[in-house]
Amino acid sequence: MKLEAPKQILNYINGEFSDPESGKFMDNVNPATGEVYSQTPDSDADDVQLAVDAAKQAFSAWSTSSPEFRFKILNKIAELIDENLEAFALAESNDNGKPLWLSKKVDIPRASDNFRFFATGLMHFASESHGMQGKAINYTLRNPIGVVGCISPWNLPLYLFTWKIAPALAMGNCVIAKPSEVTPMTGYLLSEICQQAGLPAGVLNIVHGNGPNCGSVIVSHPEIKAISFTGSTRAGKDIAATAAPMFKKLSLELGGKNPNIIFADCDWDKMMRTTIQSSFANQGQICLCGSRILVEESIYEKFKTEFIERVKALQPGDPLLDTSKQGAIVSKLHYEKVLSCIELAKEEGGIILSGGKAVKPEGRCANGYFIEPTIIEGLGPDCRTNMEEIFGPVVTLQSFKTEEEALVLANTSDYGLAATIWTENVTRANRLANKVHSGIIWVNCWLLRDLRTPFGGFKNSGVGREGGWEAMRFFTEPKNVCIEL
Ligand code: NAD
Repeated sequence: MKLEAPKQILNYINGEFSDPESGKFMDNVNPATGEVYSQTPDSDADDVQLAVDAAKQAFSAWSTSSPEFRFKILNKIAELIDENLEAFALAESNDNGKPLWLSKKVDIPRASDNFRFFATGLMHFASESHGMQGKAINYTLRNPIGVVGCISPWNLPLYLFTWKIAPALAMGNCVIAKPSEVTPMTGYLLSEICQQAGLPAGVLNIVHGNGPNCGSVIVSHPEIKAISFTGSTRAGKDIAATAAPMFKKLSLELGGKNPNIIFADCDWDKMMRTTIQSSFANQGQICLCGSRILVEESIYEKFKTEFIERVKALQPGDPLLDTSKQGAIVSKLHYEKVLSCIELAKEEGGIILSGGKAVKPEGRCANGYFIEPTIIEGLGPDCRTNMEEIFGPVVTLQSFKTEEEALVLANTSDYGLAATIWTENVTRANRLANKVHSGIIWVNCWLLRDLRTPFGGFKNSGVGREGGWEAMRFFTEPKNVCIEL
């Protein structure tokens, strides 16, 4: 069956497609054209309750099903995503504004990889055992938690949605999942795929809606025992405030303000090529983008000149054209926020070296939300521009003289998600990697991902880790059994 983005998205509850109980829908806008192109359910507590009822019903059979059975279904979902790559990629690009070539190359392949990775992972998963010198043996049971909630953001819609759903299902849980209301389309297409793949009814329920009416109901629902959330630090704080007193398991992947530290002894061409990507990929709307570029003083002017020249070639344009290096900002609201951050940078004394303005491409994208890739210098480390997450195509440049100074600049942040270090001196790289306060450090690369590694942040960037065994263990309730021999 050919997948197509519908005019009206439906909830997927108990294996069936349905309107929200209230009958209310929200407009879904294509940010590259500014036009409403579909409707998405404005679900509320009634819909979440139906989903929880279905999930509870499904839990007994799913949680006791064999690993082989779960493997086959999750692997089938991965295959069907691959078979429908074109349809998924087009839907993602129309919903989010990202270049179609990027969704084809990164977002959609990664979504099927997530299912494949956790499908195979579940076949190899083993729990721990601790012997006590022949006196006793401990073994740890890792049972599924029950009904769990997965809530994801708009920047890498299907990629991050599946990064949570796949390990939750692999470990035998039933899931209530909510994609971002800003980019609901590929979450909907995934539900069609799940039905085709033979996922039993109620095992995965995808409820569409916004944060206040739907997301917060998932978080506060007493029968949803764990919440895996990726999104803003602001929403993460609200979620923690609700879920912590209910003693729910929580995984929070939040914002970032990542340093990109560049030393004079780096591999110049590789650094420059990668820094352009790490600054502006997906219009800078990746939580891992390096938005604070710290450059050793001796190469600062050289870096600045070449960086500006190369960034000027990244003009945004129609996301459906292969020639567009940059697409649209995800929504009018976010576009206005990013433009206001650029104004704030100017008020704080920042100098715009390149970009700084909205772009109106000709033709079908004339009313879309496009912003030039923007480079700013002249700001200190603790102004708002360098402290607050912008989450758009905006980077700042700062220079440093010594490694110690670079470290202080890097750590002058309330966030601690990712950092990139460019140097050919492996001893220095290792020393700094140890001292930078971030959950993820890339040395001489960026966004090189091994799905087995722990993924997550320090400080305001979140709590807990995703990836590999970390994610699989998160979705279990460990129970230790001690037998005296
Ligand atoms: P957001 O917090 O506004 O929304 C994320 C999701 O949470 C959406 O589905 C939304 O409907 C829902 N939501 C909002 N308020 C809620 C509440 N009170 N209770 C329950 N659900 C609620 O974030 P966004 O604007 O969609 O995404 C951008 C943010 O996500 C940025 O801050 C970015 O850094 C962060 N992000 C982090 C990571 C990571 O891995 N650390 C990855 C991608 C994005």
